[in-house]
Amino acid sequence: MRAVPANVASVQWDHEKPKNRQREQEEQLREYVAHHLYPYSPFYRRRFDSAGIAPRTISGFDDLAKLEPTRWSDVTAEPIAFVLRPTERAIIRFGERRLISAITRAKLRGKVSQVNRDLIDPAYKPVHWHFDGDVPVGYSMEDVERLSEAGRRVLQLAGLSRDDAIVDVTPPGPSLEFWQLVDGARSAGLSAVHFGPGVSADRIAAAAPTVLAGPPDALGAALEALRAGNHRIEGLRTLLVLGALLDDPDRTALRVAGQQVGEHGLEVVLAWAPAGVRAMWGECRGGKVFHTYPDLEWLETLPDGEIAWTSLSWHGTVFARLRTGVSGTLEDVTCENCGRTGPRLSVSSASSARRPSPVWADSAPAVVPSAPAKSAPASPGSMFGRAPADDDEEDDDEVQVLVPLDVDALNVLDEHPGVAAWQAEYRRVDGVDELIVFVAPAGVDRLGPLFRELDLTLSATQYVVQRPEQIAERRRRDGAVVDQR
Ligand SMILES: [Zn+2]
Repeated sequence: MRAVPANVASVQWDHEKPKNRQREQEEQLREYVAHHLYPYSPFYRRRFDSAGIAPRTISGFDDLAKLEPTRWSDVTAEPIAFVLRPTERAIIRFGERRLISAITRAKLRGKVSQVNRDLIDPAYKPVHWHFDGDVPVGYSMEDVERLSEAGRRVLQLAGLSRDDAIVDVTPPGPSLEFWQLVDGARSAGLSAVHFGPGVSADRIAAAAPTVLAGPPDALGAALEALRAGNHRIEGLRTLLVLGALLDDPDRTALRVAGQQVGEHGLEVVLAWAPAGVRAMWGECRGGKVFHTYPDLEWLETLPDGEIAWTSLSWHGTVFARLRTGVSGTLEDVTCENCGRTGPRLSVSSASSARRPSPVWADSAPAVVPSAPAKSAPASPGSMFGRAPADDDEEDDDEVQVLVPLDVDALNVLDEHPGVAAWQAEYRRVDGVDELIVFVAPAGVDRLGPLFRELDLTLSATQYVVQRPEQIAERRRRDGAVVDQR
């Protein structure tokens, strides 16, 4: 997903008819389960296999109910098993065609690291981490874009515009509330200063915010300091409460405290999500229900009334049918407050009103926390490093992949004026595919530049110079392209 510029109205997520949208969501679900969740998530592959569920039998949300819900205790037991790990073998067996052909082409050219860098890493490699309690939650580059977009939507739902200016008193650190606001404000093009808690009232007043953002206790402290210092902030019209639910009396108390230093019409707007949900949902300004993200996630009410959450698009740390500890009402009709469509959640109770604080600055001397895994070898390396050896595979035979001949790339040999004749030969040496190119140069004094130019397209293992008649003889015998694998 591309970040949407702030001056362009976002499409689809908040204006599509429920029936159409659900059909699209089920398409997303099928694709996600078959090509991402099942192949790359150690936990869910185990869970599908042990329940005897073939991933391709999940064709809609009714089928998803075959999958046993995930408890948060499953997650804390082995958090790293929930991180998508696209191993080469899993990609080849289950992955998207686009990735398979990129990998086979790269192996052919001996440039697998380039595929990792250009294709796999942006989609899958977690480059940003924060903590829900002691569970590390990883975001790939594409996930960071998703988080930025979700953050932008929270600000849009809160009724903010580019003219707003945010003073943020959220404690800086590896928490969702901090980073979603940072990324969201940037994506929306809003001015924001992330002071953290404990900033002086003078400093806040000097920044002339129209929005104060942060968890309730830090907001309350900031407002109290402003009031005690007799500050009056004209234009302060929004308190954006991050990462916490408020009951009505607390919401009212906070609004009153805000109105004492800000505008009379000041509103309190919440953004929150339970642990494991990858982006906080936002209330629309003046409403008290959370708009959710139908293009990123699926919410359902389990038979016992608990809300379960399923990723439809996230990479990094992902969950399906995660028990959220939330009870409430899901509605999929037009919001009477703001007119947007899309699933909205009205929370009646939650196991925790505050998102779990990141547990990371504990006594361990290492910068990287070790996950409290019972069974998984969750060393720091397995969190931040490359995929560990994939020992969950059922069969140990190396999957034999026939690399398709990259005929398009060979066209350069016909087109390059420095090539009089050529023949290409594919070999496999010690399991690695190689491309040998026999070339008869035409009117070229220096071969180095010629081969460098050809190699921009071919990435051959080796070039062998021959006379035109030698190559003609080879082609008569074996053809233009020889496959020795
Ligand atoms: Zn609304």
